[in-house]
Amino acid sequence: MIIERIQAGVYAVNCYIVVCEDTKKACVIDPGGDADEILNYIEKNQLELDFILLTHAHGDHIGGIPRLKEMKNVPVFLHKEDEGMLMDASKNLSSMMSGPNIGLSPDKLLLDGDIITLGNLKLNIIHTPGHTRGGICIKVLDTLFTGDTLFANSIGRTDLEGGSFEQIIDSIKRKLLVFDDRVKVLPGHGPYSTIGAERIHNPFINQ
Ligand SMILES: [Zn+2]
Ligand SMILES: [Zn+2]
Repeated sequence: MIIERIQAGVYAVNCYIVVCEDTKKACVIDPGGDADEILNYIEKNQLELDFILLTHAHGDHIGGIPRLKEMKNVPVFLHKEDEGMLMDASKNLSSMMSGPNIGLSPDKLLLDGDIITLGNLKLNIIHTPGHTRGGICIKVLDTLFTGDTLFANSIGRTDLEGGSFEQIIDSIKRKLLVFDDRVKVLPGHGPYSTIGAERIHNPFINQ
């Protein structure tokens, strides 16, 4: 597996391009903007873009989708509970952000426990509500993409529509901290971490 990070869009979301080295198939997680930079990486490395995967539907994570769809016609995968948010520019807050209003329909709705295939890789979908109702984390081998659920030393905000502090803490404790300390945490914003480091240092989960 190769993981390329592009800090995309004006909100510098961590957009990840995940590549199966055996098959050269790739997916993009949270294309917040800078679609042309993403497309350049795909072309330069002669990859086949299979799908776009969203950790949740907030505007800072979706800005690059229209351009990627126009150029590659790839499907967008999203958890079922965030579908309404993706379709509505005021609910996903893109209407309040710089850049165009974005409202679009997902092509495939995900549920907790789903496994998505990318070449020879298996992407495990973990429903972690709390930041939004349909927020997910994605585990591939020993890497966990945590979106805006878990950050290095912090957690996602819970004061937006669908947010719940109790739920996000419960999601993190029951569904993420069960993993081994060595599992890498690649969040939607900011620096990387590990499950072990968060278990010890994250002030929100060590109360
Ligand atoms: Zn968010
Ligand atoms: Zn975000």
